[in-house]
Amino acid sequence: MTKKIALQGILFDKKSSFLQGPALAPPLIRKAYHSASANYFAENGMEILPEIWDDKGDFEVNDYFDIEKITLKNLESGAPLISLGGDHSISYQLLKAHYQRFGAVDILHIDAHADLYDHFEGDKFSHACPFARIMQDRLANRLVQIGIRTLSKHQLAQADKFGVEIIEMKDFDTKQQPAFQNPIYLSLDIDALDPAFAPGVSHHEPGGLSTRELIHIIQSIKVPIIGADIVEYNPKRDINDMTAMVSAKLMKEVAAKMLEMST
Ligand code: MN
Ligand code: MN
Repeated sequence: MTKKIALQGILFDKKSSFLQGPALAPPLIRKAYHSASANYFAENGMEILPEIWDDKGDFEVNDYFDIEKITLKNLESGAPLISLGGDHSISYQLLKAHYQRFGAVDILHIDAHADLYDHFEGDKFSHACPFARIMQDRLANRLVQIGIRTLSKHQLAQADKFGVEIIEMKDFDTKQQPAFQNPIYLSLDIDALDPAFAPGVSHHEPGGLSTRELIHIIQSIKVPIIGADIVEYNPKRDINDMTAMVSAKLMKEVAAKMLEMST
């Protein structure tokens, strides 16, 4: 296997509205990925060995707007990039960088929250707002959201305004996966999972996806994934590193899908 996948960690949680902690996540997800308790195989039979990573390292970020520059540089090698967060605000900056390389893309966004607030507690760049910014700047042709279970009137109006396709958690059916025609960017907020499966997040929103359902969504993707992020893992809330392990497993499954669809 010669194809590489780029990996970067964004140590940033200053746009979190409730708790801090996701800035600590990237090294702990890497550690869980290397854990002797598991092997490197993804479920499609591909071995996601350490050699497949073009690992750019973890980046301490003070200025939110630096994330775009860092990401743009890490996209230079041409390998698809997985970004480990960090809070979800980073996705707006990640998408700005991807836009410069790929143009507007289709996005699959999996989350308990739509993150479509025009502003939140006076901040337009809050982790509650990235997809409002992304749609406003026309960085995406299409935004499909899955797992949502916290829609407010304002966010429903925002979804309507931007033409966001939302599969709410209450309507979610494992047998009906969204169909894409074009390559996608995948944005994965760990709180899409039920807190029973992933307690290490800032916002425990009951009634979410099981780990199996989330893996099934990833495995059902039939188009190339040009980039992905795994965000909002908060180690301060974790129990026995179980959410680190879930994040690492998802990282392997996303990497395997990236490799599978690029061959
Ligand atoms: Mn989110
Ligand atoms: Mn969320």
